[in-house]
Amino acid sequence: MDSDNQFVAQEVNGGIRTIAETLERLIFSQKILGSLLGAGLVRPCHVFHVDLDEIEEVDHLVDVFRPAHRKHKRLAPVCHVIVCPDCTLLPRPPPLLTQSAEQSVTVSPTSPSKPTTQQPPVFCVELKPKQGFLSMGHQHCPFCLNQFLKRKHGKIQLLSQYCPLDLFSGSRMRMLKAIIALTRTPQNNLRIFQDGNLVFAEECQSNLMAVLQQWFQVDDTSDRTLLLKHFCTLVMDALTMEICDGTDASLDQTVDDVKEAKESQEDWNRLIKEERSDHSLPCLPPQARIRKTGPTIATSLPSRSVLCRLLRVQSLGDVDFGRLYDAYDALVCRFRDGSVPYETMRWTHPHTGTVDWLLSQEKTTNQTMDDVRLVQRYRISSTTRDCSIMIAFQRLANDSVKDTTEFSFAGSEHLPILRDLSGQRYKCHASVVDLDPKPVTCVEKHRRRNQAMNEAFWLSNSSSSHSLTNRLPPKV
Ligand SMILES: [Zn+2]
Repeated sequence: MDSDNQFVAQEVNGGIRTIAETLERLIFSQKILGSLLGAGLVRPCHVFHVDLDEIEEVDHLVDVFRPAHRKHKRLAPVCHVIVCPDCTLLPRPPPLLTQSAEQSVTVSPTSPSKPTTQQPPVFCVELKPKQGFLSMGHQHCPFCLNQFLKRKHGKIQLLSQYCPLDLFSGSRMRMLKAIIALTRTPQNNLRIFQDGNLVFAEECQSNLMAVLQQWFQVDDTSDRTLLLKHFCTLVMDALTMEICDGTDASLDQTVDDVKEAKESQEDWNRLIKEERSDHSLPCLPPQARIRKTGPTIATSLPSRSVLCRLLRVQSLGDVDFGRLYDAYDALVCRFRDGSVPYETMRWTHPHTGTVDWLLSQEKTTNQTMDDVRLVQRYRISSTTRDCSIMIAFQRLANDSVKDTTEFSFAGSEHLPILRDLSGQRYKCHASVVDLDPKPVTCVEKHRRRNQAMNEAFWLSNSSSSHSLTNRLPPKV
């Protein structure tokens, strides 16, 4: 709950979010990020009124579910809530439409969103993929650098096997490597839910094979890696499937999909054995680089896939950090002396809060407006570098649809159908969640964190027995 109003004293309201701030938050996630990512990936949310005593009661009820490190969190005492759909489940089916003898349409009661016991379970994979590109002049991605800082602060014992650049590379082998790595060191980057309940995460890792057995129902026990293969390939296929909702024209790009051969048993043996032993080595950028309007992004991902869409928006933050910090410092001075109203940074601003203005490459003659655009683009990028992808899957009975069907109807949209390695079909749906706007002060926060991450990296690697003579240092 970061209320971003510290520059303008009269707006401070005890740190409690006003209804205007809540609506701004909703406009940011639904209107701005909905346009940039594609509305199909951002499920609709609504604001409702609640009474203060109801908030208190909910706060009390959810307290038992809070993990230890979030026990200090409290719900703000306000009279409004944002209600979001449960993205661990598939979109709610529409009211059943049946035609009567008079050809009029009748509507049956809405089906419950939770699957009934007759339906196969819905498994949902939550991925927090983090920044999928190397910042200008850097050799390590922030996720890998941050591992050293987290270990220094005692937040983790093991450095992650995962590097986001592998997941976003678009190369099948590298993506599989990334997903396998997440199953080994999930941290807060991988969770699995079954019918809305958490069944695999950092804190319950031993469940993985039992969960996958429930999911894929594999009878063949001769290949102990089969469940992992099923899981990794299905998740990879979902992350790279084309999502055609026709709403992402603003950042449209054409990418030649790289089709690679399917993995052989030797490939799998190598992937499963592979361990990342030396974290001081630079992260590996993807091979392909594409450029159209907007930032250059390095990937061979299908252009309409959830990962490519996310990477394009993340790339709005691929900026010269010196220029960004100068812009931020100049703006802070202007907010404080009152020469620029803080309202300029609101996502509800009629001019600077529009997607067209934010994406425009046109240089203005007004340095302040260029600074505003740079910082706002960085803020948008920051949200998408910290959000989660939720992909829900539900097994289809073999005789429930004809073999040629590629979509299943749910809500106002068609759900794509993916097959696992054995040909079993699943309805699936991807959404992006945790799309809260970052405060303007995130620029300052990240400046300090980048410095701390670099120091932790050097501290760790200069004290290790490794020779660093041939290693390129990370640049700040
Ligand atoms: Zn990395």
